[in-house]
Amino acid sequence: MEIKIYNTSSRKIETFEPLKKGVVSMYHCGPTVYDTPHIGNYRTFIFYDLVRRLFEYNGYKIAQAMNITDVDDKTIKRSREEAVDLKTLTSKYEKMFLDGLDALNIKRPEHILRATEYVDEMIRIIGILLEKGVAYKTSDGIYLSIDKVPNYGALAHLDLSKSDQSQERIANDEYDKENPRDFALWKFKTPDDGPVSWQTPFGEGRPGWHIECSAMSMKVLGETIDIHTGGVDLLFPHHTNEIAQSESVTGKQFVRYWMHGAFITVDGEKMAKSKRNFLKLEDLLEQSVSPLAYRYWSLTAHYRSPVNFTWEAIKAAQTALIRMIGIFGTLPNGGVVNMSYKERFNECVNDDLNMPKAIALSWELLKDPVVIDADKRSTLLDFDLVLGLRLDSSPKVASVEIPAEIQALAEARELARSEKDWQKADALRQEIGNRGFVIDDTPNGIVIRQAD
Ligand code: AMP
Ligand code: ZN
Repeated sequence: MEIKIYNTSSRKIETFEPLKKGVVSMYHCGPTVYDTPHIGNYRTFIFYDLVRRLFEYNGYKIAQAMNITDVDDKTIKRSREEAVDLKTLTSKYEKMFLDGLDALNIKRPEHILRATEYVDEMIRIIGILLEKGVAYKTSDGIYLSIDKVPNYGALAHLDLSKSDQSQERIANDEYDKENPRDFALWKFKTPDDGPVSWQTPFGEGRPGWHIECSAMSMKVLGETIDIHTGGVDLLFPHHTNEIAQSESVTGKQFVRYWMHGAFITVDGEKMAKSKRNFLKLEDLLEQSVSPLAYRYWSLTAHYRSPVNFTWEAIKAAQTALIRMIGIFGTLPNGGVVNMSYKERFNECVNDDLNMPKAIALSWELLKDPVVIDADKRSTLLDFDLVLGLRLDSSPKVASVEIPAEIQALAEARELARSEKDWQKADALRQEIGNRGFVIDDTPNGIVIRQAD
C-alpha cells in the first residue's frame, strides 16, 4: 500500500519512494541534554516513534539514528553554572531522556549518537568546506558563507533578497529567520568553555550545533537519506544549515523527505523552558496521569497540528485509555486479525499518519457487533504495533470502574519494577492498597481489582 507523507521541502503530500527498496533510512534531531525534557519535547519524540512504526507496519527494514547533543552552548553553560564537568551533566540528562522514552513506549533508535563521539567526523567535513572555499576563518571560529551555497534557505522559504547584506556573521547556534547570516561551524576556545575543546589543523575549539547533525547523519546513514525529522522550530536555522553544510560537502541531495512536528502550546504559547510554562512526565504522574495516557492524548491530534495542553483533555484521554484497556482485557485469545479493519487502519496511518482517525477506528472495532471478541483482540493487538499503547502488557483492570489514579499508580509500579526499583514498587503497591484496591500478579500480567 502507498505511504503518503507531507514533505516540508515541497510543502506537499508526496508518495514515499525509498532510496533502497524495502529499507527506509531516517535521522531524528534528538535532545540537548542539559535539563529534564518536557512533555513538549516528548510530543516530538512520540512523532518520531510513529514514523518508525509506520514503516515497520508496512514491512520496511529500518535504519534509524537519533543524536544526543552533549556539547553545545547550552550544555557548556549549564555545566559551568552547576560546577560539574560536561560528561557528568550530560550523562545524567541523557539517562533521564532514555527513561522517558521507555515510559512512553518509544522504541529506542538503533543508533543513538552522542555528538562528542563524532567530533573527528565534524573536523573532517569542516576541513572540506574550508578547502572548497565555502567556509572561512575569523578570529573566533570557522564560518560558513551562505553566499556560496546555491539555494540557501529553500527549505524554510527564506527570501534572501530582503536580508540585510551589511549584517555581521553569527556565533550563536540559534537566531531568527529574519536574520539569515553566516553561521559558526567551529568555535575557537574561550575561557568560558573550560576544558571542553578539541585540537584541529584549523585551531583548537568545539563544534557549532548544526554541523553535529550533518556529520553524524552522513557518517552513520550515508550521504543521502530518506527522512529527516524534527520539531517545526528546527526548520530554520538548524535544518537549513544542515542542508547547506552537507550538500556543500558532497554535492548530493542530503535528505529526500523532511518531516516536522508541531508544538504543544499552553494558552496559545509554545511550551518551552524559557517561558517556564512546561510540564515534565513527573508532573503528570503527580496528578495521577500516566505516561501512556499522555501518549494516547498525543495520538488524538495530528502531528502537524499545534495542540493546546489542558488538564481536562489529558484526563479525558486517560479515561478513554483505561476504558480501552478494560475492554481489551475482557477479550479472549485465539482470534485472527480482521483483514478489512487492518486495511482501513493501514490506510489511516499511511495517510501522513492520521492517528486521530486510527484511534477512532480502534473504537469502532471495539464496538462492532459483527466482529467476534477474539478477533477484536487480535486486530487491536495488530493496531497496537503502531499505536504503541502496550495494550497487552498494561495493568489489566478487573472492571472498567477502576479510577484513573489507581491505574496510573499501577503503571508507575510496573515502571519501577522494570527499573528494578523494588522499594518504590512496594511503596506504590502499598499506596494502591491504602486506596482500597488490590494488585494481583498473574501469568498474564497484573490485574487490578477492588479490595474485598
Ligand atoms: P531540544 O532538547 O530543545 O533540542 O528539543 C528537542 C526537540 O523537542 C526538538 O525537535 C524541538 O523541536 C522539540 N520541541 C521543543 N519544544 C516543543 C514543544 N513545545 N512542542 C513540541 N516539540 C517541542
Ligand atoms: Zn539536528
